[in-house]
Amino acid sequence: MSRMIYLDHAATTKTLTEVTEAMEPYQEIYYGNPSTIYEFGEKSREAIESVRELIARTIHARPEEIFFTSGGTESDNWALKEAVHLYERMHNGRKGHILTTPVEHHAILNSCMELAEMNCGFSYLQVDESGRVYLPAVEECVMGQENACLMSVMYANNEIGTVEPIEELGRIARKCQLIFHTDAVQAYGHLPIHVQREHIDMLSASAHKFGGPKGVGFLYIRNDINLPAFVHGGAQESNRRAGTENVPGIVGMGKAAELAHRRMKMENRRTKYLRDYLVYRVLHEIPDVILTGSRQFRLSNNASFCFKGITGEAAAILLDTQGICVSSGSACSTGSLEDSHVLSAIGLESEWARGAVRITLGAENTKEEMEYTVEKLKMVIADMRNI
Ligand code: PLP
Repeated sequence: MSRMIYLDHAATTKTLTEVTEAMEPYQEIYYGNPSTIYEFGEKSREAIESVRELIARTIHARPEEIFFTSGGTESDNWALKEAVHLYERMHNGRKGHILTTPVEHHAILNSCMELAEMNCGFSYLQVDESGRVYLPAVEECVMGQENACLMSVMYANNEIGTVEPIEELGRIARKCQLIFHTDAVQAYGHLPIHVQREHIDMLSASAHKFGGPKGVGFLYIRNDINLPAFVHGGAQESNRRAGTENVPGIVGMGKAAELAHRRMKMENRRTKYLRDYLVYRVLHEIPDVILTGSRQFRLSNNASFCFKGITGEAAAILLDTQGICVSSGSACSTGSLEDSHVLSAIGLESEWARGAVRITLGAENTKEEMEYTVEKLKMVIADMRNI
């Protein structure tokens, strides 16, 4: 195959041509600062506000509940650190406690670690072998923490693709008077989200995971949650997130959100068909392999495997020599040879977890590419096992 086969869409996606075209005028023509009072700046301000309305519509929120950020990591940090701060302010300095899961992205886990340094507690909700929160144990876990202030559970997992029971968790959080945050970085633009029906109080998303540019995202904050600012400075974003807005990025995210929602059903059907074909062949044609994550509650583009007796990193490097881009677990932890925290949390032994290969499909992948990838995977895994 002459061209590169990109199978790492959970790490990032190609910025769509329509997105780049939509952004361009805001780089070279309408480059005014949205905070200025003259008409030229008005153009940028109008563009930002129309994206705010569009994004709000996609999750059934109000425009004033959408705050633009630099991406998923900032949104997650803001939600967690300031929810704890808010609790402290409202309870005479008493430290809050976060309930989260052991399968979250490092943006959540390391924020919890940082808060723990400042004497805030956090604990993990139990997950099953597919990485899904075990619902019967949730209420008891909440009740065990009298200063619990926030529950943060990801919408869908970036490594194994498992989709969490968000609506049920939202209902429990509401009943127990906890703020409910979800890291929807892997889900927004791929799954329909309804913040009201799902009782979501805060939601993080990132444009580069759904065909938008890198370095821009948003945090949804329900109207009646008085979340303090995280970045201080100017009065942008209703005094909640200072800094001159990334106008081209926001415009690009808006275009990507529009396209992702328009194409969602069709794209999910197409990637699921290709993914299922790939999974079937890998599980039937390669010995000693398992599919990790939930079969039933799963992102339609995710195929994450563990091959016994090999290392995922070496497999990814060898596949790269064949022109195929895949990830060995989480892109963000690439470079470290430690077992993935997600695979450890779902109880996988090291001899399996070390052989993790994550394949995530996107709009441009074809059946021919799946066939080629299966053949190369068979070759690479057999070669590695022979050594
Ligand atoms: N949360 C999840 C679940 C992710 O997969 C990622 C990125 O991979 C992030 C947060 C961080 O997002 P960003 O790259 O926009 O900072």
